[in-house]
Amino acid sequence: MTANKTLLFLPGDGIGPEVMNQVRRVIDWMDKRRSVTFNVREGLVGGAAYDAHGVAVSDEDMQQAMDADAVLLGAVGGPKWDNVAREHRPEAGLLRLRKEMDLFANLRPAMVFPPLVGASTLKPEIVSGLDIMIVRELTAGVYFGKPRGEETLPDGTQRGFDTQVYTDGEITRVADVAFDLARKRNNKVHSVEKANVMESGIFWRRIVTDHATAHYSDVELHHMYADNCAMQLVRWPKQFDVILTDNLFGDLLSDCAAMLTGSLGMLPSASLGAADESGRRRAMYEPVHGSAPDIAGQDQANPLATILSFSMMLRYSFDMAEDADLIDQAVSNVLDSGMRTADIMQDGMAKVSCSVMGEALVRQLEKLAA
Ligand code: NAD
Repeated sequence: MTANKTLLFLPGDGIGPEVMNQVRRVIDWMDKRRSVTFNVREGLVGGAAYDAHGVAVSDEDMQQAMDADAVLLGAVGGPKWDNVAREHRPEAGLLRLRKEMDLFANLRPAMVFPPLVGASTLKPEIVSGLDIMIVRELTAGVYFGKPRGEETLPDGTQRGFDTQVYTDGEITRVADVAFDLARKRNNKVHSVEKANVMESGIFWRRIVTDHATAHYSDVELHHMYADNCAMQLVRWPKQFDVILTDNLFGDLLSDCAAMLTGSLGMLPSASLGAADESGRRRAMYEPVHGSAPDIAGQDQANPLATILSFSMMLRYSFDMAEDADLIDQAVSNVLDSGMRTADIMQDGMAKVSCSVMGEALVRQLEKLAA
């Protein structure tokens, strides 16, 4: 057995606990069948934490997140907490985790599994075999820049303002994540900004170029304006391998890329912090979807986005590419076998529940490992 990995599970609200239970099945299987064991702790986040502690994440759970080798989060939010004070709203738990763990690099893959090619709104030849990774800077830029606010000018004109600001260090640390990923993929990075109209865009381009020249001359680097990137994503997405971009453009482009796959229930994500002296990075993995209150408690949710988030954890936090590949292959096989949760249901396929999908996935893992 290799050393235990300590994980913190934060199932959260709505369908969060249901989809996380399916990851537990995968972990139980791995504990028995693979050369790793997981020490899984569980905490509360979002509305569940508010109900129990009056805050969106408690100090104790925050500390557990800081100490864990990786965190897996389900989803937060729901109408029950709509009228809670802003600082205690479910999303405040997510923001506190991201901020205090300093998770500055958000990784959102957009992959199309062959059996789901038809779920995309784009033509099959445009999306089949698609596998791109968006690396979005997550803790700086216009969402955090100061000054920000509203004011009334001496002539009575009112205005609202935000500040787009990046330091060189904030750019190079997220660029490192993108270039390192590219080296393990197809060795190509598109750095995306608006250098045609923004000073901070000119700065971003210069810093990325200099950093790449100094440290990543083996990686193919392209620069693209963000508006063109949005167009290219729907025109010819397979030209991309890794897209590196800032917080604002990453927010928009990652949602655009996500929809190339056509299915919210299939999309994983990772948020990574800085590496310490031992190379360990704080990290949180979570599906892209929310708590889906409309189907919560009905055993209908698609657990595959959360299972794929766990697979990303194996790949990026624990360097367990073989096990991650096994899980990704099991997901592909279970879809090939014709099983579908309601959100990805197609004619002629078998509609299954969240828990049946989880059981089927473990059976596929068992077959693959046999
Ligand atoms: P949502 O992602 O929860 O749901 C959008 C639609 O997709 C719904 O019809 C839902 O049933 C469906 N859906 C989502 N995930 C699914 C899955 N795994 N399987 C099957 N169907 C799925 O987004 P929303 O409705 O805008 O938000 C609902 C709540 O979730 C809100 O409180 C929102 O603030 C919160 N939210 C949380 C996160 C997060 O935790 N990271 C992200 C987005 C939204």
